[in-house]
Amino acid sequence: MGTVKFLRDSGLKTQGFLIVLSGPSGSGKNSVINAVFPTIPNLKYSISVTTRPPRSGEVDGVNYFFRTEEEFDQLIEDGLLLEWASFVGYRYGTPKSFVQDQIDSGNAVIMDVDIQGAIQIREKMPEAIFVFLLPPTWEELRRRLKLRGSDSTDVIKNRLAKSEEEIKHIVDYDYFVVNDDLSAAAEQLRQIILSEWSKISRVDVKSLLALWKGGSVVETGE
Ligand code: 5GP
Repeated sequence: MGTVKFLRDSGLKTQGFLIVLSGPSGSGKNSVINAVFPTIPNLKYSISVTTRPPRSGEVDGVNYFFRTEEEFDQLIEDGLLLEWASFVGYRYGTPKSFVQDQIDSGNAVIMDVDIQGAIQIREKMPEAIFVFLLPPTWEELRRRLKLRGSDSTDVIKNRLAKSEEEIKHIVDYDYFVVNDDLSAAAEQLRQIILSEWSKISRVDVKSLLALWKGGSVVETGE
């Protein structure tokens, strides 16, 4: 995957947008996002807040903002979350200001939220793009959840039951990506994001044409 140099690097004004990625636990949302992330400079990741304890290797402020139940209550009370939901015993939410600031600056923001979160976002930001990530097969999903190792058998069972419910909601999404091969799935997500960037409705056409006439519109890197 080459790095894409955006038209806006040349001063083009673009309208930022939100990409909502959902999929069952174990579908590989983090891996796919991590693979796409370095290839699109104007893509930002919305770090969620959660009451779930960190898994091994997870870092506060990188993977999540890990917070207590009381702190989470306070965020809700102060109206600082764009959406939030309970998921298999813990709460997860999206900080509102980061998403808004990035979109206002013309960036694309990607977020990983469950179905309940996606429903709330669709109500508040109907122009967002909704992508559903599917594991290659049901059996593979079971295997991946078991392999993760850091969750107890009960948690794995609950997550599998939850997955079955979640997959039914795929009809509410705009795109689906099957994560069989990570780099292929990442490339597909990347293409979806790039297509969205190419929408005329997201650019200031006057400045696009002015830049183009001046010969300073650069489309892609290597
Ligand atoms: P995990 O515990 O595996 O990191 O995440 C569990 C579920 O919470 C996943 O389905 C993930 O998409 C979802 N999730 C992560 N962050 C958020 C968030 O900010 N809001 C909502 N609604 N769900 C989230």
